[in-house]
Amino acid sequence: MPLHSLLYIVHYELCIIKIMAKIKTIGVLTSGGDSPGMNAAIRAVTRAAISHEFNVKGIYRGYRGLVENEIVDFHAEDVSNIIHRGGTILRTARCKEFTTPEGRKKAYDNICKHGIDALVVIGGDGTLTGAKQFASEFDIPIVGIPGTIDNDLYGTDHTIGYDTALNTIMWCVDRIRDTANSHERLFFIEVMGREASFLALYGAIAGGAEAAIVPEISLEQDQLAQLIEHGFRTTKKSSIVLVAENPVTGGAMQLAERVRKEYPQYDVRVTILGHLQRGGSPTAQDRILASRMGATAIEALVEGQRNVMIGDDDEQMIYVPFSKAIKYEKAIDRHLLETIARLSK
Ligand code: ATP
Repeated sequence: MPLHSLLYIVHYELCIIKIMAKIKTIGVLTSGGDSPGMNAAIRAVTRAAISHEFNVKGIYRGYRGLVENEIVDFHAEDVSNIIHRGGTILRTARCKEFTTPEGRKKAYDNICKHGIDALVVIGGDGTLTGAKQFASEFDIPIVGIPGTIDNDLYGTDHTIGYDTALNTIMWCVDRIRDTANSHERLFFIEVMGREASFLALYGAIAGGAEAAIVPEISLEQDQLAQLIEHGFRTTKKSSIVLVAENPVTGGAMQLAERVRKEYPQYDVRVTILGHLQRGGSPTAQDRILASRMGATAIEALVEGQRNVMIGDDDEQMIYVPFSKAIKYEKAIDRHLLETIARLSK
């Protein structure tokens, strides 16, 4: 090996040793909406950190636990038998106080009190926004793991919990289809996703629905009127339409009300899946994603990374700067709507 390559490797190893000497204790928290697979991520972060001889602190109820000092020692056995469980053993919360400079100062004081040198935060867009803000004010390395059923974070193909939620939606659509078909009814099924339409769009494909009504398109055209105009499924009397919960789409209730008024020939019903979509044992895909991301988050800290989210880019684990992950919108593939329409004829 040439001397300069050898020197580079020695230099790199020394840097890592220096960083590892600086980080002794890592805090982990889950924040925002819970998603299936968060427990698998907590397990992976804890076990990977311990394997690098770091101490681990579990922070309860997201940023609220940092502000209110709900922080405990975490050991390998504290994360035993949780990989298959939905929800989060660390609990989660939405914390208004953390959005204020005073709240974040309190959080930092508690971090210092517990000797925490680095943080791993698991959550969605808001959680990463909070992490970016916190890191800009205090000298603490933070690595984010995308945990949300919405799959709305830029820089990662998938977020933890999305696959499980999608499978739950598919399972529900299958069951609603039985009754929709028996009674020859039109069903609007409302799914979560806030600003993002991934659950509605992919749920519609997986469930064989007739259409997905999503805010990106509703903004530009009256999707319901178009659906009615082109006629619901001609070969069958029942129809299933997935609706993204969003003021722009009007939600399933509002759409059904419109159909009752404007197109009384349809026997219309509504199902709002709601929090059902957040629960349940994570799928294999979510457990694997969470395990890989959790382990990679610790590798990132060992390498001296800070203020990055772990992303999944075509099965490769990558580092995405917080600024990128929260700044850009992850666009839907509009061609999929055409596919849904074509396949429902
Ligand atoms: P989900 O996508 O599942 O809703 P999320 O992480 O986006 O998850 P939020 O409630 O938006 O959930 O954010 C979680 C927490 O992050 C908030 O309760 C708040 O404490 C913190 N947070 C969000 N935005 C900011 C901000 N601009 N500054 C500081 N903290 C923030």
